[in-house]
Amino acid sequence: MSDREILRSAAQAIAGASEISLACHIGPDGDALGSMLGLAEAASNAGKIVKASFGSPFVVPDNLSFLPTDHLVAPGDLPARPEILVVLDVGSADRLGEIAANAGKAKTVVVLDHHVTNEGFGDIAYVDPTAAATGEIVFDLLEIAGWDLTPSIANSLLTAVVTDTGRFQYSNTTPRTLEIASELVAAGAVPTLIGQRVYEEAPFGYLIAAGSALGRANLDEGLSVVSTVLTQEDLKTAGVDWGDVDGLIDTIRLAREADTAVLAKDQGDGRVKVSMRSRGATDVGSLAASFGGGGHRLAAGFTVDGDPDQVISAVVAKLGEFR
Ligand code: 5GP
Ligand code: MN
Repeated sequence: MSDREILRSAAQAIAGASEISLACHIGPDGDALGSMLGLAEAASNAGKIVKASFGSPFVVPDNLSFLPTDHLVAPGDLPARPEILVVLDVGSADRLGEIAANAGKAKTVVVLDHHVTNEGFGDIAYVDPTAAATGEIVFDLLEIAGWDLTPSIANSLLTAVVTDTGRFQYSNTTPRTLEIASELVAAGAVPTLIGQRVYEEAPFGYLIAAGSALGRANLDEGLSVVSTVLTQEDLKTAGVDWGDVDGLIDTIRLAREADTAVLAKDQGDGRVKVSMRSRGATDVGSLAASFGGGGHRLAAGFTVDGDPDQVISAVVAKLGEFR
């Protein structure tokens, strides 16, 4: 099947179902939630019974709480054996958290994704690494299904595209991305709302937590890497949680001297979640995959057991293999 035919068969499977379950990745970002909630609303408007969720911790980050959550349910409230489960922005089944069990029992699993490290799971898997966001794929799918873009759906999909392109700055931004954004704004999406809520505000505690992590940042000019650790203690002292500090890696990567930025977030339970970014010289997607994670060439992550400083050392030791 050509790529287009796969997307068409995905659209047919979704349009042909009367009850649709949807899931995105744990710790959802703007693309995961925006693409999922946009598709959920469109399917609901088409008369489907729709439930959407993501694996624990089941908390919508404050900076995405403006997205319409009418169809969002706790992961335990998704059907245990869905007729159809549409999985969005998920590169590997483990990124579903406990919803991996629902996927295992679903009659049909449809995967819509753009991660280059996607493992190709699911019955119908449409994976397009040239799409800047999964939201672009949903945009195309709605067109194929003949489902209208309402202002609310358009706003969810624009949130997906804006966040995964870093506001149209990253190298994944294509002419098609901007065409889609143009159509979304024409359909009623509100760029100022997205910009304000996602980028222009944070709780005061974010400044305190970021200050702690930035204060202990380390630059290795020889290896062209900047890195730091964010601890559970930092969050507790600042009175914020993980959802509030998603933007921190974007501040760390500002260091001009470094190609690669590494943030190790100590989960407080023996696990460390690592976020990585590159200016272009390092394939951090493959680097993350070598630690059991994944992502994109220039933005990726993984979670492992261990001590955060030792995990950073292990990452830095491997940088040369991925340049
Ligand atoms: P972030 O650093 O913002 O959490 O993630 C950056 C990119 O890497 C996103 O596209 C995200 O989906 C991907 N990513 C982050 N952590 C993991 C992980 O543990 N496994 C996989 N497969 N991808 C990840
Ligand atoms: Mn994405």
